[in-house]
Amino acid sequence: MVDQASINALRHRSIAPQGLFIDGAWQPGSGEVLEVESPIDGQILTTIARASAADAERAVAAARAAFDDGRWSRMAPAGRKKVLHRLADLIEQHALELAVLGVRDNGTEIAMALKAEPGSAAGTFRYYAEALDKVYGEIAPTDPGFLGLIHREPVGVVGAIVPWNFPLMIGAWKLAPALAMGNSVVLKPAETASLSLLKLAELAAEAGLPDGVLNVVTGQGSVVGEAIALSMEVDMLVFTGSGGVGRRLLEYSARSNMKRCYLELGGKSPNLVFADAPDLDEAARVSAMGIFRNSGQVCVSGSRLLVEDSIHDDFVAAVARHAAALRVGDPLDLGTEMGAVNSRAQLEGNLGFVDSARAEGSTIYAGGNRILEESGGYYMQPTIVTGVKPHDRLAQEEVFGPVLGVLPFRDEEEAVAIANNSVYGLAGGVWTSDLGRAHRMIRAIRSGVIHVNTYGGPDNTVPLGGVRQSGNGHDKSLHALEKFTDLKTAWIRL
Ligand code: NAD
Repeated sequence: MVDQASINALRHRSIAPQGLFIDGAWQPGSGEVLEVESPIDGQILTTIARASAADAERAVAAARAAFDDGRWSRMAPAGRKKVLHRLADLIEQHALELAVLGVRDNGTEIAMALKAEPGSAAGTFRYYAEALDKVYGEIAPTDPGFLGLIHREPVGVVGAIVPWNFPLMIGAWKLAPALAMGNSVVLKPAETASLSLLKLAELAAEAGLPDGVLNVVTGQGSVVGEAIALSMEVDMLVFTGSGGVGRRLLEYSARSNMKRCYLELGGKSPNLVFADAPDLDEAARVSAMGIFRNSGQVCVSGSRLLVEDSIHDDFVAAVARHAAALRVGDPLDLGTEMGAVNSRAQLEGNLGFVDSARAEGSTIYAGGNRILEESGGYYMQPTIVTGVKPHDRLAQEEVFGPVLGVLPFRDEEEAVAIANNSVYGLAGGVWTSDLGRAHRMIRAIRSGVIHVNTYGGPDNTVPLGGVRQSGNGHDKSLHALEKFTDLKTAWIRL
């Protein structure tokens, strides 16, 4: 059990300037740096290396050499399993340090970060450590004169590009299955959340991961990310982030070696509340948490609340009551329920959405403003906007902040039409006591994930991924292993 005193002991610990982790060693890179500003108070925490394209290529070359000589790719599964379990142990041993470091960097409330970052990352490494020696090849039902063997082989060098909202959790979703299957990785963290992933690289080396198998290159997406994505020596890309960058990755792939790309992109997930929901107050509480936790910086956030006409006003009032009760502030305080917005740019973007909603004739029902400005950090009120129309900007574009748009609906048919009126298809929610309706909604709503009478489920056993412009690459579950292997057929005449 973590106490506040242990957190406080770490909150001002100085952080050395960070280098690049390439071929099992810290390297300075090109020499240029980026300052790391904490969203908690706007203070500069340290610097990270601003890698050049040549630095990224060095990391790719190290990953390639490690893959080709088989130090990891041809290690016996039992050996890989041991290393990944050891890494999970080390993440658990350093959980508090990792969580506090990450929160100082990205602003997530610590109670959530402890579970969602080191807690979840350790579980993910364990899950894939246990899975890796249960992946079998196949013998095909061929003509008896032949033997058709289907092998599953690691793909090679994986480029992994990740966002800032849950760096360790999302990083582990990419790294653990990629490494489990014997691939080498070049990881590019987001500019505003690199620190905990750099620490993870150090722990991976301590766990016994051979040099060059995991390389971490920090810096600007438009330089480092682009160099990885354009590299002829990177065999596949796994990405979580915005649709705009995802689109570029597809272009980079087409312009280079046509590497396959698995994209986990944004969402504008509809959360449908019917008047027959089993417990409307619980629905209101969970719906509030489903958008406001981590300041709305959660890909699956239920950011469009669709409410049946007959309960609209009472339900919105209940959501607003729960939102008003949330403790917003210092993310390193264990009692905080909504921490800091990740950066000044992100905060300004959120406030821009509030302005455009007002301009489009919607009502700012609650919140809408920056708060705690005197702290020097980036905080925003949980914000609820009513009277949003299906084609409004707030109904169509992802905010990735604590801004909930509310739209009324008449009946199931209209609810589904509004829900599916989106380029996205990541997640959704349905609140109803009618089992038939729940199943109809599960089928009708176009999304990769749907929740019924709940919202959010932190479990490795089910895939997480979207459809349409929310992407194509499912993280988590045994299905995630498939993308990190190639099928090879051996055709043998008997
Ligand atoms: P982003 O797309 O701006 O950045 C993501 C990563 O891409 C960062 O590491 C960035 O440095 C890098 N990048 C930027 N430009 C690049 C380029 N030209 N070439 C290569 N790499 C480049 O996204 P973000 O702001 O970090 O994260 C927020 C987005 O991530 C939201 O859209 C959110 O919905 C999405 N997200 C999706 C999921 C999911 O599972 N579907 C999970 C979390 C976040």
